[in-house]
Amino acid sequence: MSAVRAFRQSPLSADNRYKLLLSRSESAGLQLREIHCPYCGFLVERVFSDVTGHKMVYCKKCKEEYPVNLGYFRTVKRWRPYKGFHYKRQQR
Ligand SMILES: [Zn+2]
Repeated sequence: MSAVRAFRQSPLSADNRYKLLLSRSESAGLQLREIHCPYCGFLVERVFSDVTGHKMVYCKKCKEEYPVNLGYFRTVKRWRPYKGFHYKRQQR
C-alpha cells in the first residue's frame, strides 16, 4: 500500500464558514495552554485561556478516557522577577 492517504472534506456552508471566521478572530487575543494526560503525560488537549467547565478527554497514548475539570488542569507559574529586576538591600 503505497498510495497517499487522501482526507476528504465536504464543502463548507456559508453559515459554518462565518462561524469559523468569528471563532478565529475571537481567539486571536487568547493564549493557548496544553493539557497533559495525568496518567502518562501525553498531550491530550490544547485549550484557550478563556475555557471553563468539564470535558471528556481521551488519551491516544494510554487509551484512558476520563472527564476533566479544565479549571483544575492549569499550571500556575511561579512568580519570578523580570530580568532587569534587582532586590534592593535594606540600608541601615
Ligand atoms: Zn495517557
